[in-house]
Amino acid sequence: MPEPLAPPSDEPLAADADGEHQRVQTALAEVAADLSARAAAAGGDAQQVLEAAALMAQDPAILDDVRARLGGGANAEKATWDAYAAFRDMLTEMGGYMAERATDLDDVAQRVVAQLRGVPAPGVPASDEPFILVARDLAPADTATLDLEKTLALVTQDGGPTSHTAILARSKSLPAVVGVVGALDAMADGQLVIVDAKAGTVVLDPDDASVTAARAERETRLAAATAPITEGALADGTTVPLMANVGSAKDAPGAVALGAEGVGLFRTEFLFLGATSAPTVEEQTKAYTDVLQAFPGKKVVVRVLDAGADKPLSFLNDAHEENPALGLRGIRALRASEQILRDQLTALAAAQAATEAELYVMAPMIADREETEYFVSLGKELGLERVGAMAEVPSIAVLADQVLEVADFVSIGTNDLTQYTMAADRQLGSVSAMQDPWHPAVLRLVKMLGDAGSSAGKPVGVCGEAAADPGLAVVLVGLGVTSLSMSASAIADVRAELLTVTLDEAKARAARALAATSAAAARQAATV
Ligand code: PEP
Ligand code: MG
Repeated sequence: MPEPLAPPSDEPLAADADGEHQRVQTALAEVAADLSARAAAAGGDAQQVLEAAALMAQDPAILDDVRARLGGGANAEKATWDAYAAFRDMLTEMGGYMAERATDLDDVAQRVVAQLRGVPAPGVPASDEPFILVARDLAPADTATLDLEKTLALVTQDGGPTSHTAILARSKSLPAVVGVVGALDAMADGQLVIVDAKAGTVVLDPDDASVTAARAERETRLAAATAPITEGALADGTTVPLMANVGSAKDAPGAVALGAEGVGLFRTEFLFLGATSAPTVEEQTKAYTDVLQAFPGKKVVVRVLDAGADKPLSFLNDAHEENPALGLRGIRALRASEQILRDQLTALAAAQAATEAELYVMAPMIADREETEYFVSLGKELGLERVGAMAEVPSIAVLADQVLEVADFVSIGTNDLTQYTMAADRQLGSVSAMQDPWHPAVLRLVKMLGDAGSSAGKPVGVCGEAAADPGLAVVLVGLGVTSLSMSASAIADVRAELLTVTLDEAKARAARALAATSAAAARQAATV
């Protein structure tokens, strides 16, 4: 269990401020170099996370703040620690993606202070034996560079399903259960435990039979990861295309290599998160063409800019709102700035004309038929063939029959659909237990959408994190979902699980989950 570094003392500065400033500057550069080296070694998603951390370590604003604090009489460690804390508070205040990155800053601060102290940075303890790692939370730099030969599974006390730890663990196919309240007190070094990431449970002191079953399950999982890449299908041959979620053209080669049959969600706002002005049609055409080119003849579902709440785009909605998740976001923000939406749809039509991919375009946060009609007619006016809606607001599920009269397809965003169904902020650790797409209330809404899709003869996919949970993927198919899109690294496990059930079995599991009275009960009813 990794221990955090003790915080610095309040002792006043006893040395020369300029010399101490120089010492902090050197420590920052060394930490940045170490993080960059870890980034290069890690590759993939982890590389981006660690490169961002290396940049944070070198942020000139932090060094300026450290100088001011040294000038005010703080010692070097304290000045550094507090400068990072102030920066972290500022990011937390900004909310959304910025707030999630705030916890990464704590790790950078610990590394710099360790460097100033001349002690090793806190990290994963070395072990000769394979082990299950239990921690309060893990720094991205540690998660990204874990020795996967030794680390069997990960349990953290803090962190929600969208924390970097969870995302990186998923991208490494490392079984992980995050946000286990009291984990550190409940477990001791050397204790035997089973981590069942599928069921989301940690079993302490299991009996021999459970250990044997868990070992067999692990073997099956490892075999699935190396199984040949085939098209997504159930045991009876029912096809279920398995697609990838991407944020830019950089993600495309990895997705293709892992067997993605297309893209089920291209989050275009990821390209422009830092931008202060709207991207031009030319810039966008290039970015979209780059992604579409990687999937000739394949389906690529592009989501138009999803601004607001957890994805701030200052050029679309920078008004301060008390409740941004319920505010001017998604299609509402685009409608309020229609020229930005027109430019994006124009760029998408140009990218479609320039490539061989089968382009589908959808809008986020659509609530009803009127909004669907608005978006579909604008998309068609600007030359797009297949235009649809994301199902993230519960009202669209209730009105699914009406919406599918006008939309060419629907894709369910289970992250937001769960947040709004359960009234549980997806960014908030204290309500993360409510943020569970296994909840029968969420599953019943998915069924309404699946039924409406099958009556209308139109596709209904899932592109939220729920699709990456193999057990839940089976249930979603049983509820009428026709394709699944997820982080490419999750595809192998989902493919293997789908192959173990027929459509009738998937429907039976779905029926049991729908009848359950809680998320945990639904998971259990569908998994046994
Ligand atoms: C979702 O809400 O499930 C979704 C896929 O969109 P995002 O996670 O980008 O909000
Ligand atoms: Mg969403």
